[in-house]
Amino acid sequence: MAIATTNPATGETLRTFDELTGDEIDRKIARAVTAFHEHRRTSFAERAERMRRAADILEAETDDLARLATLEMGKTLASAKAEVAKCAKGCRWYAEHTEALLVDQPHDVGDTSANVFTRYEPLGPVLAVMPWNFPYWQVFRFACPALMAGNVGLLKHASNVPQVALAIEDVLRRAGFAEGVFQTLLVGSGKIESIIDDDRVRAVTLTGSEPAGRQVGARAGQNVKPSVLELGGSDAFIVMPSADLAEAVDNAVASRMLNNAQSCINAKRFIVHERVAEEFTRRLVAKMEGLRIGDPMDDDTDLGPLSSPDAVETLAKQVSDTVAAGARLRTGGHPIDRPGNYFEPTVLTGIPDGSPGHREEFFGPVALVWTARDADDAIRIANDSSFGLGGSAWTRDEAEQQRFVTEVETGMIYINKFTESTPEVPFGGIKNSGYGRELAGFGPRAFVNAKTVWIA
Ligand code: NDP
Repeated sequence: MAIATTNPATGETLRTFDELTGDEIDRKIARAVTAFHEHRRTSFAERAERMRRAADILEAETDDLARLATLEMGKTLASAKAEVAKCAKGCRWYAEHTEALLVDQPHDVGDTSANVFTRYEPLGPVLAVMPWNFPYWQVFRFACPALMAGNVGLLKHASNVPQVALAIEDVLRRAGFAEGVFQTLLVGSGKIESIIDDDRVRAVTLTGSEPAGRQVGARAGQNVKPSVLELGGSDAFIVMPSADLAEAVDNAVASRMLNNAQSCINAKRFIVHERVAEEFTRRLVAKMEGLRIGDPMDDDTDLGPLSSPDAVETLAKQVSDTVAAGARLRTGGHPIDRPGNYFEPTVLTGIPDGSPGHREEFFGPVALVWTARDADDAIRIANDSSFGLGGSAWTRDEAEQQRFVTEVETGMIYINKFTESTPEVPFGGIKNSGYGRELAGFGPRAFVNAKTVWIA
């Protein structure tokens, strides 16, 4: 994919960028190594001061930064502003908490004269391969804990958000992080394997699709380098009869449509108890049909374009193949005939086993609805997925709540609230949704040497 800014609302390519040459990549990695030797010696207090300054810059420049995201990947301006604000919150949270999270951990070995502890030391340059969907947050989610832990970052951002990638580097440099502590590499995905192979790069993290994760994880494994993979999801949203139906429907639509319906943790599979399934679906269809579709820069737009023409084509085929396999189309189902990458809000019911709706992640405004006989059946359907990222269950019955907490096979389960990503709480999945965790205490510990020290 060319490295370019193409407005998804119009299809117009506004800027293109040359990919870095092999020599330029080499120089940037060398600079990262030099920067690491300095950066790891800075105190937590010094790093925290820079993180707080980064938060100040993000807050002062929210409007311009948000516009850039909307321009490059099409999310609504309101959601882009909220994303920038969340990055500032992430900077402040890690400025405040990282030192305590990485403090030496003493061990009692039964010998009071021995000083035995675990010390967390940074690893060095970490490659971050990131997606376009939350072009700021995905990067800060990695960078805040990694830089606070004393690592340095090399960002290979998605090829459709180069200006955001450069803006992030610029924010962190102006915040006071030394040259080379955080660098953007404008390269296509074809260059990633050689960067992972480079001995100077000590670890890799990828947020993105399952195929990209498999490739990057395999390469990291060949090089015996640690990796974190945050991949796709097809999160279940379970609705039981005791739930407040109006609240469940409002949250169903909010979760499905979050970020123009292109988030790994959007609710995608709606699993509804048969006693409320028809009423839930009727209300869901009405709400989906009431969404205002338009220019993401406009304040009253609920749903903007998808990121690319390819995304529209993929989604259209997934929907038509699922319908051909026997699903019932309750509303929508097609690309919208206007400039830009727009797709109709869509609801499908009766999803047949083996169809794309059953097996694949739908990265766009399509709600897939199942009917469950009871809690057992709901859990069976929820777990009948190759993904295991997040999920939510809506019920006031405490026994049911405990069953969903224990039996739904995912990295995250939320009850009467949809899955979200926030600095205080660990984030990540199981199964084909990846491995490792980000955020909270897991973030800074993802890329450290937990060094055992024994002073006799
Ligand atoms: P991609 O996997 O296509 O792209 C993500 C990043 O990986 C980009 O930087 C891309 O570069 C790079 N990439 C693409 N193919 C390869 C490859 N074969 N080897 C190495 N790197 C590669 O994902 P999308 O951009 O389409 O993002 C959507 C996907 O990401 C969805 O599946 C979504 O669920 C998942 N995701 C997961 C999240 C999580 O936290 N678990 C959060 C957000 C999204 P380039 O752009 O140059 O191709």
